[in-house]
Amino acid sequence: MQAGMETTEGMRQLIAGNWKMNGRRADAAALVASLREGAGALGVELVVCPPATLVAGVAAALEGSAVGVGGQDCHTAASGAYTGDVSAPMLHDAGARWVIVGHSERRLAYGESNVLVRDKADAAARAGLVPIVCVGETEQQRLTGAAETVVAAQVDGSLPPGFAGVVAYEPIWAIGTGRSAGDADIVEMHRCIRNQLVSTLGAAGEAVRILYGGSVKPEGAAAILRLEGVGGALVGGASLSATDFLAIARAAAPA
Ligand code: PEP
Repeated sequence: MQAGMETTEGMRQLIAGNWKMNGRRADAAALVASLREGAGALGVELVVCPPATLVAGVAAALEGSAVGVGGQDCHTAASGAYTGDVSAPMLHDAGARWVIVGHSERRLAYGESNVLVRDKADAAARAGLVPIVCVGETEQQRLTGAAETVVAAQVDGSLPPGFAGVVAYEPIWAIGTGRSAGDADIVEMHRCIRNQLVSTLGAAGEAVRILYGGSVKPEGAAAILRLEGVGGALVGGASLSATDFLAIARAAAPA
């Protein structure tokens, strides 16, 4: 292993909240004030990813706190004639230090391919953002035994050379449905992703944190976050409630 390279062993867990297309300035101000107060010294890394309109305000409100801010997507280019898009340098300028790329909602609704996701992750890293690259299988792929092959191909195809971000394993059928994946499947898929990371990135693949996402709620969070290979959680619905998001963060806190 190269000097300075660490494994994920002993690393603090990362709990990232994806607000999706939710929130106006007043909602965000109330949510962020509670997070700022509650996040204090939990010993967990916390990030919130509000919609683009709220990134600058949320980043300003969280400045100096234990909670980082991310975007939910970025373009591959730094600027240009791309109506409606937001670039990675723009997110950085607004105060973000993280960005989600390749969320299944974007892969499905906008046809985002592994190659596009890889280029977005590359653009993010060049702008000084930590990319959180999402991967995950459909229910049909799981039922037909293709989950590992599909997810390994997504990992291999969606990460740029030198990737030093985060991978989020989010089975599509578990997102927003209230149905989390079972413990054994989560462990197995994290192991498969780790193997692919090492195969794709070499030793650097050992240091990539792998999050679980898909209906993580305060009730089930502790059990999921204790599973072998799980380095944190990407949380959708429950991140819109400070009480729930902080409860999940507490479940990730070291004993
Ligand atoms: C997500 O959208 O990334 C997600 C995991 O959503 P939820 O927690 O609502 O399933």
